[in-house]
Amino acid sequence: MLDRISSRREPWDLIVIGGGATGAGVAVDAVSRGYAVLLIEQHDFGKGTSSRSTKLVHGGVRYLQQGNIHLVMEALRERGRLLENAPHLVHDLSFVVPAYRWWEAPFYGIGLKLYDWLAGRDRFGASKYLPRREVIRRLPTIRTEGLRGGILYHDGQFDDSRLLLNLLQTAAEHGAVVVNYARVVRLTSTNGKTAGVVVRDEETGSEFTAMARVVVNATGAFGDAIRQMADPAATTMIAPSQGTHLVFDRSFLPGDTAIMVPHTSDERVLFAIPWHGHTLVGTTDVAIPAANLEPRATSSEIDFILETAGRYLAKRPTRADVLSVFVGIRPLAKGDANSITAALSRDHTIRVDGTGLLTIAGGKWTTYRNMAEDCVDQAAKLGQLVRRHCVTKSLHLHGFHEGADSADPLATYGADAAAIRSLQDADPSLATRLHPSLPYSGAEIVWAARHEMARTVEDALSRRTRALFLNAKAARAMAPRVAELLANELGRDAAWQAEQVKAFCELARRYELAD
Ligand SMILES: Cc1cc2nc3c(=O)[nH]c(=O)nc-3n(C[C@H](O)[C@H](O)[C@H](O)COP(=O)(O)OP(=O)(O)OC[C@H]3O[C@@H](n4cnc5c(N)ncnc54)[C@H](O)[C@@H]3O)c2cc1C
Repeated sequence: MLDRISSRREPWDLIVIGGGATGAGVAVDAVSRGYAVLLIEQHDFGKGTSSRSTKLVHGGVRYLQQGNIHLVMEALRERGRLLENAPHLVHDLSFVVPAYRWWEAPFYGIGLKLYDWLAGRDRFGASKYLPRREVIRRLPTIRTEGLRGGILYHDGQFDDSRLLLNLLQTAAEHGAVVVNYARVVRLTSTNGKTAGVVVRDEETGSEFTAMARVVVNATGAFGDAIRQMADPAATTMIAPSQGTHLVFDRSFLPGDTAIMVPHTSDERVLFAIPWHGHTLVGTTDVAIPAANLEPRATSSEIDFILETAGRYLAKRPTRADVLSVFVGIRPLAKGDANSITAALSRDHTIRVDGTGLLTIAGGKWTTYRNMAEDCVDQAAKLGQLVRRHCVTKSLHLHGFHEGADSADPLATYGADAAAIRSLQDADPSLATRLHPSLPYSGAEIVWAARHEMARTVEDALSRRTRALFLNAKAARAMAPRVAELLANELGRDAAWQAEQVKAFCELARRYELAD
């Protein structure tokens, strides 16, 4: 990838800064239209918010409550497309809204019928009223005291960082160049207009320049910092807000149905979701002054999640039950001075500054494709590129595979699973689990280094496998073997391994509550 950058003599049609959902979506859209695309990520792909979502491909029942019908309809349409284009990663998940007060079942029942109706033919499954005994059958750990019944509805669930990797693989297969550990440190300009980027290779420290007809700033919550590289006087457009999730073992939610709490004390919704054999609970919405790559949960966010979940679960979760805490930052487009972040729009914003830098921010994972289509349409106008139509509505993503067995630990690899199994067959030591509590094997680490651009232990345990997000302590225990496997693949020495294990263990402790 780096050689292809240095050997290119003409400007790229688009340089995309940021390797999250937004940037990867833009890269896929642009390259599949036939444009020359370079994508640059400062850390690993998905290190920002795009690996830290609630893992829902959804219209957003909450946005329906807020009356944002346009966003809900757009997201429901995209939900249907994602299921068609990446069936190995997106699946239908049943949710129950439990009803403890007399008015809740009719009230949420009507709202969710509207949700079904808005989805039209993209509907996952029809919502319906469940009597108390059926709620208890589906959710054996629900608090039964005062429970009257519930409403069942359907939405999508996915694995965010795996989808991101598949998007980048799709982009690369169409000819895009995508690099991680490459940080944009400056923008270059010609006649006052942004014309390219100066990039520092974070592995070697060397710098290179790449020129483009259009530079797209898709850096999420970091967007204003890039805009201010082009114009130090640019006023900010992004209001960062963080959201925390807690992960518990499966015993808190042993079935395959999720709980949706429709109204928390901070006027939000809270989900408890079965995910990769664990229970994921979140999230919060807390305005923060500035974005950083490893946001920390506050004590009050943790208490809030534990307390709210405890009101709905027979077995109240405590701090000691938490296996991992992870936090993401929403890149919300700014509202007026009086807006609170929970009420700011989740619609996306595309902005072209006087410098010609195009910034895309906001939106949701679910709507990445639609955002990308809008963005590339704007970029083509701005860069006076030959007009070409978007083809991503029905573009199958890398790994496309239908009918996978959801119990297969390699199911999220889709069509790649067969090749990983071949690695295991060729070397049975790669088939054994790296930790008894998690389903991951050495073959996945080898695969990640060879085919998914994993460069560090963190990449392998956070975003190629999801070990760190599921069980931080188990992930720490896996680090030495993962470092050894990666060192073999990447030609690194013992000192590198030791340094990698140390760095990863320090990071993983931040995902453990005891710390
Ligand atoms: C708590 C939470 C839960 C969410 N849950 C859901 C959900 O369930 N469903 C859903 O649809 N949406 C959800 N979202 C929204 C969704 O996750 C985000 O909208 C999406 O991930 C944003 O992606 P992005 O690419 O814009 O930002 P990011 O993923 O943050 O990517 C930006 C990238 O830019 C890189 N970057 C920054 N500066 C530079 C530089 N100088 N050079 C190179 N690269 C740089 C960063 O390292 C980062 O990787 C959730 C968001 C949060 C915070």
